[in-house]
Amino acid sequence: MVAGGDAPGDLLPPAAPSCTHHSCRNNPACSAPYDRDCTPPGPGCGMPPGYDPAASPTGPTGRAGRVLLHSCCAPCSGAMIEEMAEKGLTVTVFFYNPNIHPRREYDIRKEENKRYAAARGIPFVDCDYDAQSWFRRMKGLELDPERGARCTACFDMRMEVTAAYAAEHGFGVFTTTNATSRWKDVQQVNGAGVRAAARYADLGLVFWLYNWQTDAMTLRKYEVSAEQRFYKQEYCGCSFSLRDSNLWRKKEGIPPVRIGGEAAGLGTRYFEDPQTDAAEESQEVVDQFFADAAEQFGDERLRKQFEGRKKDAASVALNNW
Ligand code: SF4
Repeated sequence: MVAGGDAPGDLLPPAAPSCTHHSCRNNPACSAPYDRDCTPPGPGCGMPPGYDPAASPTGPTGRAGRVLLHSCCAPCSGAMIEEMAEKGLTVTVFFYNPNIHPRREYDIRKEENKRYAAARGIPFVDCDYDAQSWFRRMKGLELDPERGARCTACFDMRMEVTAAYAAEHGFGVFTTTNATSRWKDVQQVNGAGVRAAARYADLGLVFWLYNWQTDAMTLRKYEVSAEQRFYKQEYCGCSFSLRDSNLWRKKEGIPPVRIGGEAAGLGTRYFEDPQTDAAEESQEVVDQFFADAAEQFGDERLRKQFEGRKKDAASVALNNW
């Protein structure tokens, strides 16, 4: 089921918030946190579809206010969790990311996320590290570029499991922290969420389409990350993105990605400076990265080189691209 967009099939969040008397970070004109006394709440107040805080002033009492938040990592979840909590929503963090490779990186990202959820008193659902299934599903897509068909399959897999859990456990709405990252194609992310929700349309389950990528939201994301001193990851997550990030780095003369430890391959190991960190994810930087990365695909020499050493779940402890 599609919810939050302007028309069925529209995978973008609502364009411009219409609430002008007050708003949350979804409204670029307003940097104040959401105010629960803001009445009547407009679409600009960014509530999940079907949830009306005016009708439930003491907090969500029904399924519409119970949000299952699929989370890929602590930094991407920080500002989203905060905003949902400020809106009085009931949030549960759902960690299902069998894509993350190697295992050491997976454990670091998960533990950070757990720590933050615990600090905020938010339930955390820790799913299996289902790497075998992930590699099986990605078969044939190993050489696709980031934002290509492999990423669609990766989002689909994670959203399908999230939706199934949401449906089984009485959540009315779910969304994902992947929607907050400018490194991701938001249409691709939303498409996976909408497709997964459609499987449970009879239960009224909806994927929450919302603009989590405003400048204010991005800055807040990095403020929370610096406050919490989160581990700063250096690639999207899977072994293929690790390979491609390192290829790009090599070309640029940058040291390779480092997994764990106190020093990063590039920049600081932990989030420290929100302005600098936000600038690293500016639209210009992201666009340039993908333009550069596009050049290395279609390189027959590299294709042949990597064809012979496709990864599988048996090597999840290794980082041997
Ligand atoms: S690059 Fe990121 S989104 Fe794409 S398949 Fe790898 S982990 Fe998934």
